[in-house]
Amino acid sequence: MFSDELLKIDWDETTAAIYAMSDTDVRRALAKPRCDVRDFMALISPAAEPYLEQMARLSRKYTEERFGRTMSMFIPLYITNSCSNSCVYCGFHRSNPMKRTILTPEQIEQEYKAIKKLAPFENILLVTGENPAKAGVPYLATAIDIAKKYFSNIKIEVMPLKTEEYSTLKEHGLNGVICFQETYHRENYKIYHPAGMESNFEWRLNGFDRMGQAGVHSIGMGALLGLEKEWRTDVVMMAHHLRYLQKHYWRTKYSVNFPRMRPAQNEGFQPNCFVTDRQLAQLTFAMRIFDHDVDISYSTREPAFIRDNMCTLGVTTMSAESKVNPGGYHTYPDALEQFTVSDDRTAAQINLRLKELGREPVWKDWDASFDLFGR
Ligand code: SF4
Repeated sequence: MFSDELLKIDWDETTAAIYAMSDTDVRRALAKPRCDVRDFMALISPAAEPYLEQMARLSRKYTEERFGRTMSMFIPLYITNSCSNSCVYCGFHRSNPMKRTILTPEQIEQEYKAIKKLAPFENILLVTGENPAKAGVPYLATAIDIAKKYFSNIKIEVMPLKTEEYSTLKEHGLNGVICFQETYHRENYKIYHPAGMESNFEWRLNGFDRMGQAGVHSIGMGALLGLEKEWRTDVVMMAHHLRYLQKHYWRTKYSVNFPRMRPAQNEGFQPNCFVTDRQLAQLTFAMRIFDHDVDISYSTREPAFIRDNMCTLGVTTMSAESKVNPGGYHTYPDALEQFTVSDDRTAAQINLRLKELGREPVWKDWDASFDLFGR
């Protein structure tokens, strides 16, 4: 399990090593056809900041060699905001006396139909809070069963599950799982997740092993940038995690995501750091140079101009016209959202813009019949 591996990697030593990276380390990493985690550390370090242009060119080259000019399009659907956790940075935390919604199967189907009217989406991501009693595996299985009529690629972003539960959902048609570790800082994790199942760092961290053991075809991972002051250390831990998973579950496809927290307008949780646009670009280029095959995903959290700029330079997956409240496409269009969407263009507008930028939006890139050999 990765939790055992993580114990061998010291947070403070890693931070010190990142800041000790030199110009020579950066140039060595840029010259290598295949980078290791130490090279990734060099590429995200302050020493690499003067090399941003060169990194962008290399990132574009590797991306186009591997993915061509395609951009895989997906849409999230929140099916419940019911949650027993208390993540300090989330509006859906259990102490918030807001109205909770668990969409019925009929409402879920209405949402699917509404999504299909927006654009020819085939990739859907079903999102929930954590309520295993009322929105657990049977509920997810029903949502997947209905989704199969409308979508060819069904992923979930839900509470970490047991291996056998991932296997069960896979039998229903699940293709991928996205889970954010949020932070790899073991002690601070408990501060951000003080109660509920999500407070169990090991359970969440080892959920990725359980996905791999269940033979989930696609695993998405990410750190929430803004939780840790040393965000670079967090993404280095994620790079270690990615390499570990690739080694152990080599038939699985991987994606990474770097959601950035923004300062809250109210008195809510304030990020411990803000990753600038330049730093986000550097991180994206570094990840592509580190791993030529991993999908890099940008959500509508990022503003349109960032997504437009980055779509030719390393990003390979994007959401569009996302609603981040349950039933947001049809049933409850005005309910409270989990976070603020920055890119509020329609899917049609994003499709057009991507084409203007020389990208080819792809709505369908997976079919269950590809999984000929099962697992
Ligand atoms: S981030 Fe997810 S698990 Fe945490 S409180 Fe919000 S909905 Fe619940």
